[in-house]
Amino acid sequence: DNAVHVIGAGLAGSEAAWQVANAGIPVILHEMRPHQMTDAHRTDGLAELVCSNSFRSDDALNNAVGLLHAEMRKLGSLIMRCADANQVPAGGALAVDRDGFSDAVTKALNDHPLITIDRAEVAGLPPADWRNVIVATGPLTSAALADGIRGLTDENALAFFDAIAPIVHKESINMEIAWFQSRYDKVGPGGTGADYINCPMTREQYDDFIDALLAGEKTDFKEWETNTPYFDGCLPIEVMAERGRETLRHGPMKPVGLTNPRDPLVKPYAIVQLRQDNKLGTLYNIVGFQTKLKYGPQQQALRMIPGLQNAEFARLGGLHRNTFLNSPKLLDEQLRLKAQPRLRFAGQMTGCEGYVESASVGLIAGLYAAADAKSQSLAPPPVTTALGSLLSHITGGHIETVDAGPRSFQPMNINFGLFPPLAQAPTKKPDGSRLRGNEKTVAKKQAMSARALADMDSWIAASLPVAAAA
Ligand code: FAD
Repeated sequence: DNAVHVIGAGLAGSEAAWQVANAGIPVILHEMRPHQMTDAHRTDGLAELVCSNSFRSDDALNNAVGLLHAEMRKLGSLIMRCADANQVPAGGALAVDRDGFSDAVTKALNDHPLITIDRAEVAGLPPADWRNVIVATGPLTSAALADGIRGLTDENALAFFDAIAPIVHKESINMEIAWFQSRYDKVGPGGTGADYINCPMTREQYDDFIDALLAGEKTDFKEWETNTPYFDGCLPIEVMAERGRETLRHGPMKPVGLTNPRDPLVKPYAIVQLRQDNKLGTLYNIVGFQTKLKYGPQQQALRMIPGLQNAEFARLGGLHRNTFLNSPKLLDEQLRLKAQPRLRFAGQMTGCEGYVESASVGLIAGLYAAADAKSQSLAPPPVTTALGSLLSHITGGHIETVDAGPRSFQPMNINFGLFPPLAQAPTKKPDGSRLRGNEKTVAKKQAMSARALADMDSWIAASLPVAAAA
């Protein structure tokens, strides 16, 4: 029996199963929903998006996550194919209709002749006769399995905070106050340059809002949540407000790149943005507004935002835990648990952060598992690629300059800081004139992206002849 068992059909597990099956190896995909749900999932759909509907920037030349999108497309990613097919307008971002996206992933996996979906929880360590396993059970891994893994590693999986941003019914937004505009009028795929709803605030309104955030009652910490540091990219708004009254105005509420058409000469002191959340355009989420305020004070505070005075919420903000391994110490270069190499890990459990990153680690875990099943070896993708640099971050790899080592290992979104430096940083424009200030950073990112895409092509041609032919 050379079947690969994939546990968890989220972003990572779905992609992993697809890659293994497409390599000609049978897959048994174990998913506990709907029999057992997590605190964040609402449906029985595979690859359900639990919070934002955005895969972030789709710009492959200037943005690291956009580059990761492009690399995954080259590798025949199911997650990217279904995201592309279910886009909703979102400026320069790739955002999706969450149900359409999940339905497409579910259908593709259901229809694949080599994939069997088993709707049951794997409650504890997988049986010993599963020789080739991918564990992709995510930040909300069931307790029974988490306990089993903890017992194997003698290294506690860490608990962390993640947070859900509130979702508003569009018809309840006062469009006589709010207006449609993307920051700097940026036009993205399927977008118009006016994809976001913007709510302006005067200085006085901003001050009152900050007071409400600071005063509002917060959800209690559970025992296992105390003394757990926040992940900086996902701070609750009230925690940002606690760090300084101006912090939000320089973060999610920054008023730059936007002009109120009703009062073009008056610059708002702060602006709250809402992004389309479903294909129909009936729901909008408040961008960057994750919060642990209790529902009552949360609604009160959010309704102080001009344009949202009568807002009706499809979902209020909330807090969830995160489970991830100390991967640089526990996993080998191919994401296998050193203590028990039949177990390979993928997705957020490995210490990446985000839908796209989780799916990408699922993708490479699937390729590795398929290679194992065929008794072949697969070289890791070059560290100059987005996928390779993320993997290198996770497995404690080769980039000495940015790898802070296992002890300080923290979940990470893909970013250019994980890439090895260029052999030679660009100093001149194509016309020979010197690059200045920010132009240098832009040119550097673009050169790193070009290098990544070329190196990914070479790796695919050398290591994955089947993908190269497809
Ligand atoms: P998941 O997508 O969660 O998939 C894991 C799957 O395993 C689930 O389907 C689960 O039901 C199943 N499972 C768990 N235990 C078992 C078991 N024992 N047996 C069988 N099945 C099991 N990332 C973003 O990019 N944007 C966001 O807005 C965002 N918001 C988040 C909000 C919350 C509340 C959380 C917790 C995370 C958020 N993330 C977000 C982070 C992360 O990218 C996503 O959680 C992502 O879905 C992780 O992918 P995954 O495949 O690792 O896990």
